[in-house]
Amino acid sequence: MSRVYNFSAGPAVLPEEVLKEAADEMLDYRGTGMSVMEMSHRSKAYDTIIKEAEADLRELMNIPDNYKVLFLQGGASQQFAMIPMNLMKNGVADYIVTGQWAKKAYQEACLFGKANKIASSEDQTFSYIPDCSDLPISEDADYVYICENNTIYGTKFKALPNTKGKTLVADVSSCFLSEPVDVTKYGVIYGGVQKNIGPAGVVIVIIREDLITDDVLPGTPTMLKYKTHADNDSLYNTPPAYGIYICGKVFKWIKKMGGLEKMKEHNEKKAKILYDFLDESKLFKGTVRKEDRSLMNVPFVTGSEELDARFVKEAKEAGFENLKGHRTVGGMRASIYNAMPIEGVEKLVAFMKKFEEANV
Ligand SMILES: *Cc1c(COP(=O)(O)O)cnc(C)c1O
Repeated sequence: MSRVYNFSAGPAVLPEEVLKEAADEMLDYRGTGMSVMEMSHRSKAYDTIIKEAEADLRELMNIPDNYKVLFLQGGASQQFAMIPMNLMKNGVADYIVTGQWAKKAYQEACLFGKANKIASSEDQTFSYIPDCSDLPISEDADYVYICENNTIYGTKFKALPNTKGKTLVADVSSCFLSEPVDVTKYGVIYGGVQKNIGPAGVVIVIIREDLITDDVLPGTPTMLKYKTHADNDSLYNTPPAYGIYICGKVFKWIKKMGGLEKMKEHNEKKAKILYDFLDESKLFKGTVRKEDRSLMNVPFVTGSEELDARFVKEAKEAGFENLKGHRTVGGMRASIYNAMPIEGVEKLVAFMKKFEEANV
């Protein structure tokens, strides 16, 4: 067996320890004689799995009691619709468009009501976060929406926007559990888990209780109402049971690592190694405004498409996988999520130095 350093933006690297533990429990989960995959979601064993997962997530993120934690399906993309369907009571919402995922969410919201694009960084291919300290927030906006870490472009909000009292809704798919967060600043925090937490198929929604009501847009399907899932503790129908089990293991791994403060330190250390090199390199350069750089997704270019392609190819041969940039951006992107070990980044930078020496 040999494992590569996987820099994929998602689905992405998971802690090896978690994968090994899951492998050990594959045929017989703790004396039940069956795999978690084969288990009723109403069984006692599974009840413990999902309850522990929620309790550990609450502890890690310090989630207050007036917030519900929902384990849902449909990916982050389904939330693009669920959010307006459930929250657009006045039919108005403000969107800050800092990348493709925010843009898709904005476009989806336009299907349901008046969505306003109140700020955007599309003028410079989303390479920065706009100033959000005094935006023209709509008086009757039901919420203000952001994508907190822009997976494709590698930017991150370092300060939350001033929503002037309106509810903040944030897609945190690619920065979930990467650093401490003050949940009380948000009405809804959600993310697909396949970037930083677990296998594809689970989306976690953390939502303030007063936002969970029956007063949803007419025609909203039962399955797309937050209330349906909140009233049933995420067990209204069969949940993505195995995925939630793996997420639970990752929560325990993060707790063992020291929690989100430690995760942040670890992530800052890793990102610094790569950004410091990009800042001094004669060949490679980062594509994002420095103060807006993401700790998780690091896009970079050589300036030559041909060299970029050669770099990606040679890196792959050397055991560094999935470094090709997003198809809309080109160049390279290294996603260095929680589970990427520091050696992975150190070795990547050493490889980049060698490539630079051979090519300038
Ligand atoms: C990957 C990603 C999505 C889309 O997730 P799906 O689960 O594939 O729908 C949405 N937002 C962000 C920030 C992402 O990184």
